[in-house]
Amino acid sequence: MNTILKTDITVKAICDGFIYNELEGKGLFGLSGKLTIQPEYQRNYIYASDGGKKEVAVIESILKGYPIGLIYFNKVSEKNLEVLDGQQRITSVGRFVTDKFAIKDENGMEQYFSGMAKDKQDKILKTVLLIYECEGKESEIKEWFRTINIAGVPLNNQELLNAVYSGPFVTLCKEEFSNSQNANIQKWSAYVSGSANRQEFLECALDWVSRGSIGDYMSRHRFDKNITELKKYFNSVIDWVSSVFTDVESEMRGLEWGRLYEEYHKKSYNPTKVSAEVQKLYADPYVKNRKGVFEYILGSSVDTKLLEVRVFDEATKKSVYATQTTAAKTKGKSNCPFCAIGHDANKSKIWGLDEMDADHVAAWSKGGATSVKNCQMLCKTHNKAKGNR
Ligand SMILES: [Zn+2]
Repeated sequence: MNTILKTDITVKAICDGFIYNELEGKGLFGLSGKLTIQPEYQRNYIYASDGGKKEVAVIESILKGYPIGLIYFNKVSEKNLEVLDGQQRITSVGRFVTDKFAIKDENGMEQYFSGMAKDKQDKILKTVLLIYECEGKESEIKEWFRTINIAGVPLNNQELLNAVYSGPFVTLCKEEFSNSQNANIQKWSAYVSGSANRQEFLECALDWVSRGSIGDYMSRHRFDKNITELKKYFNSVIDWVSSVFTDVESEMRGLEWGRLYEEYHKKSYNPTKVSAEVQKLYADPYVKNRKGVFEYILGSSVDTKLLEVRVFDEATKKSVYATQTTAAKTKGKSNCPFCAIGHDANKSKIWGLDEMDADHVAAWSKGGATSVKNCQMLCKTHNKAKGNR
């Protein structure tokens, strides 16, 4: 059996002549008709179910430059290929470029392919898919699939990439990052999740140094006799994190330290102050997302969205609304304190509970609690205006 790795097939080529059969729920053809996407015996397209989260994720990965994994074609004849593995991903791409579904852009607006900016369209169309073309008897192909699936545990992406780009570089990489005897593993485990023998440290190191383009990086360095750059970059990131954050918290494991390093390593931090802030936020019952604490501090403690600060519960809102409304009615003023001091028609308007939102009188970031005492109800317009300041 022959297997050839193709690294020159673009999304554009794959989607040439793409046809989706609504009735059967199947992606049918691609590659100008040469490719059969879902042969008769294959299951139907399932990525559109569950609200289409999976098909949207495929497109978002492509836009971010992340790999969408290896795809396998079976070469049936000179003119015919069948997709062995990758139907769902290919159908997602085909459906997107033919405007069958939309994704949300940075502003949360629905965007169809045909309505996207030209550069984004091009980014998608020019993306190269990593495709293995297999040619051989059915029994051989089944054997191949058995080898890439060890005892029912499918090879993960990194294991497959190691196989694809095997050579001196991968050997050196494994000695360093996939060796559970390496004394550094314990230190790395504080910041990187996964295990050495499933290549997750290596994957992380490659992801950081290549800014997410692992396949490209491995292909460029395949025949290198050293891994100096990779090691140096990985250690720079780890050293940076461990010097800025002197505490080791379990929520630090698996964060996007490579991205954070790129964004923040040129800024200076006082580790003692940073540590005090980490402890303060960890002790704060209003902080729901502890994983966000580190990026929040790196970004000068402004982006409270990262912390998912707890909001007022319904009981608090109702009770504050009742008190505020009763007082307002006696005074003949609006129950929105901001409307009440205004001069327009709303100055005596009594808003309904569903027309108002809860606001922290003293901002949470300035020490204000999420309690009845620190809660006031504002009309939606004034609440928004306050939030934008
Ligand atoms: Zn108001």
